[in-house]
Amino acid sequence: MAYLPKVAIQGEEGSFSEEAGRKYWGNTVVFLPKRSFEDVVNSVEKREAEYGLLPIENTLIGSISTTYDLLLESNLKITGEVITQVSHYLLAIKKVPLSEIKRVYSHPAALSQCSIFLQKLNCKIIPIYDTAGSAMKICREKDPHSAAIASKLAAKLYNLETIAEKLEDYPNNQTRFIIISKDKEEEYHKNSKTTIVFTTLHRPGALYRVLKIFNDFGINLTKLESRPHRTEPWRSYFYLDFEGHQKDPLVSEALEELKEETNFLKILGSYPAWSESRSKEQAKLRIESQKDLSSLPLYSRERKGKQTIIHLKDPSIGETIIGGGDFTVIAGPCSVEGRKQLFKTANAIKEAGVKILRGGAFKPRTSPYSFQGLGEEGLKLLQEAREAYGLFIISEVVSPADVELVARYVDILQIGARNMQNFTLLKEVGQIKKPVLLKRGLSATIEEFLLSAEYILSRGNEDVILCERGIRTFETVTRNTLDLSAIPILKERTHLPVFVDPSHGTGNKKLVLPMSKASMVAGADGVMVEVHFQPESALSDGNQSLDLEMFNNFMDELKKLKEKLG
Ligand code: PEP
Ligand code: MN
Repeated sequence: MAYLPKVAIQGEEGSFSEEAGRKYWGNTVVFLPKRSFEDVVNSVEKREAEYGLLPIENTLIGSISTTYDLLLESNLKITGEVITQVSHYLLAIKKVPLSEIKRVYSHPAALSQCSIFLQKLNCKIIPIYDTAGSAMKICREKDPHSAAIASKLAAKLYNLETIAEKLEDYPNNQTRFIIISKDKEEEYHKNSKTTIVFTTLHRPGALYRVLKIFNDFGINLTKLESRPHRTEPWRSYFYLDFEGHQKDPLVSEALEELKEETNFLKILGSYPAWSESRSKEQAKLRIESQKDLSSLPLYSRERKGKQTIIHLKDPSIGETIIGGGDFTVIAGPCSVEGRKQLFKTANAIKEAGVKILRGGAFKPRTSPYSFQGLGEEGLKLLQEAREAYGLFIISEVVSPADVELVARYVDILQIGARNMQNFTLLKEVGQIKKPVLLKRGLSATIEEFLLSAEYILSRGNEDVILCERGIRTFETVTRNTLDLSAIPILKERTHLPVFVDPSHGTGNKKLVLPMSKASMVAGADGVMVEVHFQPESALSDGNQSLDLEMFNNFMDELKKLKEKLG
């Protein structure tokens, strides 16, 4: 199986960093979105990613100082560069006149590149961590008076309308990105560049003497940048880019002489200078690697190269996304028992901020004498609750013959643990156009779980959510043993959103909050929990259902943790 290296980038899917990365590597790598430049560096430092990609310079706003400072502090090497055209778009949830936009969100660098356009707008300008992240925010919050400045790719990914385009102050806005790495050295290349950082001796003409060395050796300088020496006021670090590789005899001699004229000298890296022909070489590589990729399973992260984001959209309810960096809570009763029970629970979860209601109408019960669910009548009640409270609906389908029926009423179909290997059912839901939440089987290995997902994907349905719900072990204190290690494993191996069901995973309402917190920390995209307005009288799974008070506290606690984690 082809292994694809990981590249940490700042920003969500659809960011300019991703665009630059695609230009450099095509489909030969997998991107790991990070919130900040520091997080990119840390990810490479701790070998989570083989490479990091950071913007360093832009033709409109100049140097990106954070990147320079991070290069000094870390021991990472620059192993490449890529230059890309940057064009900004104003994106909103619907086409509205510019005068109706009251708030504009984007990354500070993008905001400063569009300053002439923004001066003419009478609105609040709000810097946030990322251009694509701001598009995601608009998509999620649905405020028609807010807009994001981001790429065309972000507009497409987050279903936004373009209300103004080419916002940059001057055309031909370009950004140069560097590639950083801990272990990799780029091979020697005849058109190389080298970047160094140094401090000069404290005497007149010190910088002149450094630059003179390059003049004497006939080495062409391409950039000089200074940054404050943070511990010694009024002294500077100088960053210098020049043509040539540190292994070139002339360059290595010049660097030797440089040691005499500096009191600190660090070589940040020698790397191939960017050229559009290099981009063509990469394109060739891309085509070759695509051949390899087709042998990988459809669930694999390597094959898709990006995370699956599931959009739920309905004019009467609104929109929500699963798998885009947010933590989604799906809540509701184990079974739909009647109107009063369903509506009371739906009302409470809606008030607590939940967007998706769960409820079983067809129940796969271990004993044939237990309550089997209300069937289609239960689906009708779910649909009524959907309309009354503006909630998306998820419900289980147990038989291939019922797939069409259930799909008419719900927004997401659930395949239960007992049906994880009901291949006829998997093939059937693979052919519908609605997302499917697939639960891990009671005794299924991760490999078997993934192959079941592959059944659905291979029939053309790309929107599969994987749900860990506990497996059977020798332990009897809990109903099942919740396998939290499945979260990072599934996140690494697949592009699919990963959920956890701590209610069935533990069978104990007291464990639902701690296991949900642990799921959030371990990187899950959300949890599905059982809630009942009167758990003691529930017709199924009362022991593991949260009552409404517990549920409100559950939501508060998860919100606090999410804020802490950032
Ligand atoms: C359920 O979610 O109601 C359910 C039956 O879960 P599982 O399939 O995980 O047992
Ligand atoms: Mn249940």
